[in-house]
Amino acid sequence: MKKIRNNWKLKEVLNLFNMPFNELLFEAHNSHIKNHKKDTVQVCTLLSIKTGGCPEDCGYCSQSIHSDNPIEATPLMSLEEVEKQAKIARDQGSTRFCMGAAWRRPSNKNIDRVIKMIDVVHNLGMESCVTLGMLSEDQANRLSRSGLNYYNHNLDTSREHYEKVISTRNYQDRLNTLKYVRSSGIKVCSGGILGLGESLEDRAKLLIELANLEEHPESVPINMLVQIEGTRLYENEKIDELEFVKTIAVTRIMMPKTYVRLSAGRESMSESMQALCFYAGANSVFYGEELLTTPNVEVEKDRELFSKLGMNIEGTNKKTEKFRSSKRKDTEKKHNIHNLKLIN
Ligand code: SF4
Repeated sequence: MKKIRNNWKLKEVLNLFNMPFNELLFEAHNSHIKNHKKDTVQVCTLLSIKTGGCPEDCGYCSQSIHSDNPIEATPLMSLEEVEKQAKIARDQGSTRFCMGAAWRRPSNKNIDRVIKMIDVVHNLGMESCVTLGMLSEDQANRLSRSGLNYYNHNLDTSREHYEKVISTRNYQDRLNTLKYVRSSGIKVCSGGILGLGESLEDRAKLLIELANLEEHPESVPINMLVQIEGTRLYENEKIDELEFVKTIAVTRIMMPKTYVRLSAGRESMSESMQALCFYAGANSVFYGEELLTTPNVEVEKDRELFSKLGMNIEGTNKKTEKFRSSKRKDTEKKHNIHNLKLIN
């Protein structure tokens, strides 16, 4: 990605946050339409290929063994199951398939297995993304040689607020992995979570960390905390909806070419709030009914919303849409036959 601006200062980012709401959105929207196709949204599907049993202590995550109600740990998914899930995602319109594993860092043996999964995704004609925890330089290079398109590794929050959320690793660990990923030639997906008890200044500082990297991440997911019972941050004060929209707008202004993704938490957002986020510059969503361990918006509801807003899914044309819609009909037919059998 072409280098854009990476010398943002705190004061000017706070000034953006403090602009009148409509002015900020107008500026962000202008930046958006100058740099991206209007009314187009990229859809990605996220699959948990290895759930739970994670030794890290991220205060928002039920996959952590430190949670009071940790989710049951599962082994790494089989290649056949990954292929099945990837086909469903492709037929629903996803152009990128992201696979997440709850590891502090992957073993070299697990990297071998993930590389086979990446091949499966590519053979289905989709872009690949993985999120596996911290990587060594050598592991990043191996993933790059496998043709992996994106690596996700979120910074979550500001450097200052980080230790209140996670204590088993530090901010520099995150930045090191991002550095290895970038220098290996893999595209970077990195963002944050709002609602971790952070201040406005923390939000501004998170965006500065991302926008002041040597190159902007190609994708920046902005999550709204999904509060899970048993996690340390359960019952945290929720972020105000308009503050969330403003953060999307500021992200768009600071990183004009980046895909800004509405990620976790979208299930609880109203259609109007999502519409405001799209106007403010969000142009990517996670698609599919589950995001690792939290629920997501149903695919049909998303399709209805995109249609109400006159938005198109990136990478679909009449031919691919016809193919996908026939696949969806096949699945629905099978589902109806199954239901009829149950009724009878
Ligand atoms: S967010 Fe990731 S690294 Fe943190 S506890 Fe959950 S699975 Fe582990």
